[in-house]
Amino acid sequence: MKYTLFLQLFAGFSLLFIYVWAATTTFGATIVDNLRPIQNIAAILGMLFFFVQYILSSRLKILEDGFGLDKMLHLHQYFGRAAVFAFTIHGALVLNSQWRRLGHFNFTTYVIIGIVVLLAMYLTAGLASTYKFIRLPYQIWKNIHLINYVIFPLALLHAFNYANPGSFFYYVWVAMAAGFAALTLYRLYRIFLIRRQPYTVSSVKQEAKDIWSLLFSGPDIDHKPGQFLFVQLLRNGKLSEAHPFTITSSPESKEPAITIKELGDFTSTIKDTKEGDQAFIDAPYGIFSNLNVVSSDNIFIAGGIGITPFMSMLRYLKDNFDDQRITFFWGNRSEEYLCFQDELKDLLDEMPSFSLVIVMSDQKDWPGEKGFITADLIKKYHPWESYTQFFVCGPPPMTQSILKELKETDIDKKNIHYEMFDF
Ligand SMILES: Cc1cc2nc3c(=O)[nH]c(=O)nc-3n(C[C@H](O)[C@H](O)[C@H](O)COP(=O)(O)OP(=O)(O)OC[C@H]3O[C@@H](n4cnc5c(N)ncnc54)[C@H](O)[C@@H]3O)c2cc1C
Repeated sequence: MKYTLFLQLFAGFSLLFIYVWAATTTFGATIVDNLRPIQNIAAILGMLFFFVQYILSSRLKILEDGFGLDKMLHLHQYFGRAAVFAFTIHGALVLNSQWRRLGHFNFTTYVIIGIVVLLAMYLTAGLASTYKFIRLPYQIWKNIHLINYVIFPLALLHAFNYANPGSFFYYVWVAMAAGFAALTLYRLYRIFLIRRQPYTVSSVKQEAKDIWSLLFSGPDIDHKPGQFLFVQLLRNGKLSEAHPFTITSSPESKEPAITIKELGDFTSTIKDTKEGDQAFIDAPYGIFSNLNVVSSDNIFIAGGIGITPFMSMLRYLKDNFDDQRITFFWGNRSEEYLCFQDELKDLLDEMPSFSLVIVMSDQKDWPGEKGFITADLIKKYHPWESYTQFFVCGPPPMTQSILKELKETDIDKKNIHYEMFDF
């Protein structure tokens, strides 16, 4: 499903809910008289935002194929914030109404459930925005985030208590409960399928300083070049959490490969992986692929380990004797981090329309380009046409700065495609 269709559907449901709320509500003359209706619509829209959040985090293929997991997860964050905002208004108006009517707060069981939901949402949404700044390990944050699977049923319980059986919104809550159950079962079923089809690590190879490639043997992965997988490694009887890595092998290859740069807790242990270790792979994901775009003139731009999707694309093009024009700009800190050197030289020999520009930021004696990849540098080697397609990939700071640079030129934004190594 396309991104715009998804947003249109969401807008349609929001308008329908607002229409039914307005049609079934008796409004007063002043804002104060209407606080109760506002409290209700805040709760209704909050539930819709909250539910859509689950749809977006469920890795549903029908959505993923349309707009990619990274976009789904970013949208998931916005919907989460919108749900927190709507529920905060709802909670504040409920307490305000109680205070005005009764002169005290009436903490019934269902009000307490509502407060628990709101506090838990503050915790999960707050940590989602701050876990990197407060240096909370990703896995701890993710485990805390899982309490959402308890919070949503509690929010539904609260909502059911205030809906008249047989009313429109009663059936909406029934539909959301069924949808939530189906999405949870879908996730559990995917985990079951992944566990039933383990892979074996068939090779561990050091490519460059702090960079390692793993090859797997196991069931074929039907993927496009540039897509990524989630992998869990079972080493010494201990199962790691699932991490996303781009598939660097060509789709034609029988053994999927990934190439990993040491960065943090998990990636720094990649060198301890041994041939014969088991792995569980969930794939493919992502829409960052040259096969999703029709083009004969391409500019690839990678920062460091952001080379991985491009290796898959180049290997695929070579396997298919597809000699499209490609200029690959690859930013690196210094020579010791250059991986795939021999293979890149072979590709340069075998693909006449492929050229490579390596740009070093930290190595003063580098004989080639030094500094950072800029629009002027790109133009020097490959003046673009209106149909040139740009593919950008790398760690977030580099990707963001290149994107900013490209968007300030005359390049049509529709021709810029990117993958940021972060959700
Ligand atoms: C679509 C995509 C493709 C990627 N492809 C590659 C690749 O080909 N090669 C490569 O070296 N790196 C790739 N990465 C980055 C890689 O996933 C992270 O570097 C790695 O997960 C960091 O884990 P860590 O425990 O070593 O580091 P940490 O220091 O624990 O984490 C660093 C950051 O990585 C992210 N991260 C950590 N754990 C996870 C997780 N389980 N799931 C999702 N994100 C997490 C978080 O943003 C965290 O802040 C890719 C990332 C994405 C999103």
